[in-house]
Amino acid sequence: MDTAVMTTPAVLILLGPPGAGKGTQARMLEEKFGLVQLSTGDLLRAAVAAGTEAGKAAKAVMEAGDLVSDEIVINILRDRLAEPDCAKGVILDGFPRTTVQAQALDTLLAETGQKISAAVSLEVDDAAMVTRISGRYTCGNCGEGYHDSFKQPARDGVCDKCGGTEMKRRADDNAETVSSRLVAYHDQTAPLIAYYKDKGVLQSVDAMGEIDTIAGALAGIVEQAMK
Ligand code: AMP
Repeated sequence: MDTAVMTTPAVLILLGPPGAGKGTQARMLEEKFGLVQLSTGDLLRAAVAAGTEAGKAAKAVMEAGDLVSDEIVINILRDRLAEPDCAKGVILDGFPRTTVQAQALDTLLAETGQKISAAVSLEVDDAAMVTRISGRYTCGNCGEGYHDSFKQPARDGVCDKCGGTEMKRRADDNAETVSSRLVAYHDQTAPLIAYYKDKGVLQSVDAMGEIDTIAGALAGIVEQAMK
């Protein structure tokens, strides 16, 4: 972890359609800067697995590729953001996804005297997203991401990072659901690009290239934001 340049806790938002690489990049930034990755998708999947009321309400919506209600997501995010580790700074991955969520985030941050360091739009072609999403899977033990075509582990079925052998595919990573998720992104989330541009915190990164090149661009943004 390289924290030498960090002076204030960062609040970084990653914006982009499903498959843009938000989760992969958030994990890399988490490791490099000691920030905490806050993925509302992960929090919701955990709620579904635990069978909480929120999880029960979210399950079918997620399977259809639609957005879970603002109320549920904001509550989940608020609770997670209040946990002590988030004081180190956070990378929001998959939140906010609607203007109502963005406004709620502004209010939550104002309550704790924080502000958004940067909102980064990961720019990708829709057509490539279906291929990216339908081939991806993760290590069930450590969460490392892999892809049938672009990133296979050195030994088939064995995680390079932790040696785990249980690989998982998300239930909503199928062609039909991906189309709904892309529609939801364009209708409800893409307007946030203008929202953050108006606030003067928007940055854009070409996210069609190599994972490490994109990671380098994002690291530069985080370092700049911390100064
Ligand atoms: P993700 O892991 O970010 O791709 O999210 C998976 C699914 O969880 C999405 O397709 C939505 O159904 C739901 N979800 C995650 N984050 C949000 C959010 N901020 N607002 C509404 N729904 C969300």
